[in-house]
Amino acid sequence: MKFNTKTIHGGQTHDPAYGAVMPPIYQTSTYAQTTPGGHKGFEYSRTHNPTRHALENSFASIENGKHGLAFGSGLAAIDAVIKLLKPGDEVISTNDLYGGTYRLFTKIYEDFGIKFHFVGMETPSKINSLINKKTKLLWAETPTNPMLNIVDIKALSKVAKTNNILFAVDNTFATPYIQTPLDLGADIVMHSATKYLGGHSDVVMGALVVNNSSLAEKLYFIQNASGAIPGPQDSFLVLRGIKTLHIRMQRHCENAKMIADFLNEHPKVEKVYWPGLTNHKNHSIAKSQMNDFGGMISFTSKNNDYDETIRILERLKIFTLAESLGGVESLSGHPASMTHASIPKVEREKSGVVDSLIRLSVGIEDISDLIQDLKQALE
Ligand SMILES: *Cc1c(COP(=O)(O)O)cnc(C)c1O
Repeated sequence: MKFNTKTIHGGQTHDPAYGAVMPPIYQTSTYAQTTPGGHKGFEYSRTHNPTRHALENSFASIENGKHGLAFGSGLAAIDAVIKLLKPGDEVISTNDLYGGTYRLFTKIYEDFGIKFHFVGMETPSKINSLINKKTKLLWAETPTNPMLNIVDIKALSKVAKTNNILFAVDNTFATPYIQTPLDLGADIVMHSATKYLGGHSDVVMGALVVNNSSLAEKLYFIQNASGAIPGPQDSFLVLRGIKTLHIRMQRHCENAKMIADFLNEHPKVEKVYWPGLTNHKNHSIAKSQMNDFGGMISFTSKNNDYDETIRILERLKIFTLAESLGGVESLSGHPASMTHASIPKVEREKSGVVDSLIRLSVGIEDISDLIQDLKQALE
C-alpha cells in the first residue's frame, strides 16, 4: 500500500458489529465477560479500547512500523520512552530540543538519577565523545524547533547501532508524509499527534511506533501500568485527522515554499529558515532524507528590535498569534517571549533564537491571502 492509501486504510477493518466504515467511539471503560476471563479481547479501557486500537494500527501503518501506541499527549509518549531507563543511565539529545521535552528530561527525570547531555546533533561526530557504557538512548528531533536544523537520521542510527544504544526520533515537525525514521534506522518514532496528525487544533495526543516486538511489549506494559492513555473520543478525532494527512501536508508544503520564497526576497527580512531553501545550512541532508520540506518557517527581520517584532505579529490578521502548530489554520509565534522564554537570553541567542525571530506554522488557506497578510504586516 502506498502512503496516500495508508492514511485512509492502513491497519483499518470495518467494525465487526454493524460494518460501520469508521470505527465507532467506544465510550466505555469496561466490557462484559460471560465467565471470568471469557471476553472478546477487551477487559478494561486503560489496557485496550477498540477505537484507540484502530488509531494505534493507523499510527503503525503510516510510519512503516509494526506496533503503534497512543498516549494522552506527546509528552506522555516521551515519558513512556524514558521509563524504559534506570537510574544511572545516560541520554544524549539535541541542544535545540522542544521546550517541553527539555523540561521533562531536566526537571523530572534528572531527579530520578538519569543523566542528559545536549549537543548539536547536526554534527554526528560530536556525539561520539559523549558515549560511554551508561549511554542508553539517543533522542533526536528533525527538523528542530524553531531553528529548523536538520539531523542526519541515517548517520545517527549508525552511531546508535555501533554502540548498542536505542535511537528515538521525534517526527512531529516532518510527519511520515515527509520522512519515516524507522526506514532510516531509528528504533522508536514519536509524535505529538496534537500537531499535524490530528491536524485541526482540536485534540492533545501522543504516539509511539516501533518495529521490535520485545521493545513494543515493554512499551505496552508501561502504557498500561502508568496509564497515560487517550480517550476514545480523542482517538476518533486523530484517526479522522490522519485520513487527510497527505493532502493537508501537500498543501502545507506548497504554501510554505511560496512564503519562504516571498520572505527570502523581502527587503525587511534578514534571514529565512526553511530546509527547502538552497541557502539553508542543512539543505543537502534535508534533500536526501525528506520527501518535502514541511510547513514550518522561521525568519528574522532586519531591525533586530523586540518591539518592532511584536508589532509585526500584532499586525498579522490571518496568521493567529498562538502556541502550537500543524493545524489547518496559519499560526505565528514569537519564540523568545513564548515557547523559549524560560531559556536565558544568552543561551537562546547562541542557538539563533533572537528577539526578532518569528516562527510561522503555515496553514492550508489560499496562498495569496497568506502572502498579502505578511506583506501588510511587514510594511
Ligand atoms: C508539541 C510538541 C511536543 C509535545 O507534545 P504535546 O502533545 O504538546 O504533549 C513534543 N515535540 C514536539 C516537536 C512538539 O512540537
